[in-house]
Amino acid sequence: MNTWRIENNRIILNFKNFDFWWSIPSDFKMPHISLLKLVEWLLSSPFGYEIIDYTIPRKYGCNNAVSYSGGVDSTAVLQLVENPIPIHYEVANPGKLHKTINGVLATKKHSNGVVVTGNANEFGKNFGNGKVGFWCLGGFTIPSILYADYLDIGTISTGDIFGNFNGGVYMDSIYTNKIISNETRIHVDLVLNKFRHAGLYLTLPAIGMTEIVTTKIFKKCNIDKNYIMGCMRGEENTPCMNCFKCYRKSAIDGNIIDLNPETENNLSRNPILRLHELLWCVKNNGLKHPLLESLINRKDKNIDWVDKWYSASIEFIPEHMRDYFLTKLKEFEIETMTNDDIQKLTEWNSFL
Ligand SMILES: [Zn+2]
Repeated sequence: MNTWRIENNRIILNFKNFDFWWSIPSDFKMPHISLLKLVEWLLSSPFGYEIIDYTIPRKYGCNNAVSYSGGVDSTAVLQLVENPIPIHYEVANPGKLHKTINGVLATKKHSNGVVVTGNANEFGKNFGNGKVGFWCLGGFTIPSILYADYLDIGTISTGDIFGNFNGGVYMDSIYTNKIISNETRIHVDLVLNKFRHAGLYLTLPAIGMTEIVTTKIFKKCNIDKNYIMGCMRGEENTPCMNCFKCYRKSAIDGNIIDLNPETENNLSRNPILRLHELLWCVKNNGLKHPLLESLINRKDKNIDWVDKWYSASIEFIPEHMRDYFLTKLKEFEIETMTNDDIQKLTEWNSFL
């Protein structure tokens, strides 16, 4: 039996005699039971545990939370949502290379930013696949779910983009030419329904965008960009410049850096992770690499769609947020994919 308690400025889930905890302020009250059940489900269902929905649904709150990493994608999402509350999850026990300080500082720059520290990313390590992380679409929103009553939250937006492997909606993990498969559709609908039962819209403003598009929004938006970076190994406002993310994000920015071992490893695989964005950099930003350059003219590697928005993804934004979102897209001059682009997208695959 899973139990919840509040103790020493922490809310704690006891699961099979193991305590998973999140930091809370002193005036925090135990959240609605449907929120707690949703958290248990997101943590444990990827590993086959059954969590039954509680029968009392929660009423939707009024505020918009953004599950905020402090990176480029979720910073772009902050620009697309009205009056967002950025909520950042700080890993309590980071691995050796994982630096948490930039994400915390990026969040604290926002006057209403909330940093929640916890160890729930260790659920899989203890009761699942042996690894830290979150293993379900929406898993990163757990701190926002727990704070939903405290901050009167009704929507939680994520920074998920097109082609995210874990919990992705478009482009399956095998990266073939499916815009959205039946299996993914069933899973996504299940997750969205679970959130609605807890009085929350899980909202995916960037799911129809690549990181080329989110970077464009990020570059254009008028905010203090200190401490905001995709790299999780960067120290004191400086990315490490030695990981695949740094290689890719720099190239998207038009700043080509040297190959590093992590990038070489990815480029030696088949399929290549985030190939569509790399090819965009070859075509538009002067990225040079023999393998990538050899792919650029192949018929199944057309990337005309990569810097545009896939408009069918509006289904993952609740109706009351759409006008604001579309106005912002116009403001940031984001183009919409044409039928031709969508055709190219459906022909896309990341295999060599
Ligand atoms: Zn890096």
